[in-house]
Amino acid sequence: MDERDGQLQAALLEWYAAEGRDLAWRRTRDPYAVLVSEIMLQQTQVSRVEPRFEAWLRRWPTVDALAEASPADLLGEWSGLGYNSRALRLHAAAREIAAHGWPDTEAGLRALPGIGDYTAAAVAAFAFGLQAAAVDTNQVRVLDRWDAALGRSPREVRRRALELVPPEAPDAWNHALMDLGATICQARAAACDRCPMATWCLSAGLVDPQAERAMRGKPGGGAGARPQRFEDTQRYVRGRIVAALVERGSVERDALVDAIPDGIEPARVASALTSLVADGLVDQGPEGLLSLPR
Ligand code: SF4
Repeated sequence: MDERDGQLQAALLEWYAAEGRDLAWRRTRDPYAVLVSEIMLQQTQVSRVEPRFEAWLRRWPTVDALAEASPADLLGEWSGLGYNSRALRLHAAAREIAAHGWPDTEAGLRALPGIGDYTAAAVAAFAFGLQAAAVDTNQVRVLDRWDAALGRSPREVRRRALELVPPEAPDAWNHALMDLGATICQARAAACDRCPMATWCLSAGLVDPQAERAMRGKPGGGAGARPQRFEDTQRYVRGRIVAALVERGSVERDALVDAIPDGIEPARVASALTSLVADGLVDQGPEGLLSLPR
């Protein structure tokens, strides 16, 4: 930490106090609510998570209540959020916590089933007020731009991120970095002219998103690159299968293609079903009867 770091900290926290997003999960320090929100937010947009987060907490207000729920009920409630395995990971963690209590360190949180580095750090900072850095792609981008240090190793980025977390405000700090990355210092464009960090940021006015993408080796920068339609992904087919099982309870394997009303090729359905069974998201009975896990 040097003088510039102190100025970066003060400027970002001041901006966050005035401009930070008011989100339901930021109004609580309940570690269970924070954990639910963080797992929902991993691959789903904030606007879609907000109503689902509140509905989830109404249905299962405590970690003990969630631990006693059936996987099938969880998957039903999760329906539409995508990446259904997240619901089962949340369930596994809830059962562990209900049995043994909440860990009180970041490392202890990371040891919970299905909880990775980011989620452990987020719960540590947001719920327990521990000095932890919830390093996601937004944080990496913002920190790299501040220091004009694109290309640092993950270990170097983590060290730098942790060094900057103010011990008196780890929750506000991590939220502030997320908000800056989501609203001003975005991957596709950096709005340096209205950025509160511009005075101290070594990349102010110099960001070239295309060059950054090339340096990170990410696809999508070329003129001919075209994003894949969601309907063409296996994730879409997996979601349709789970939705059909939520609606019907169970389906004969041979009838599964007809149970999905989108005309998806049988080979794609079979492949998606195989992966769902392997991931424990669908049970296949001895007679080929498919259902969600009980
Ligand atoms: S000045 Fe520009 S590059 Fe630096 S943090 Fe702000 S938006 Fe990002």
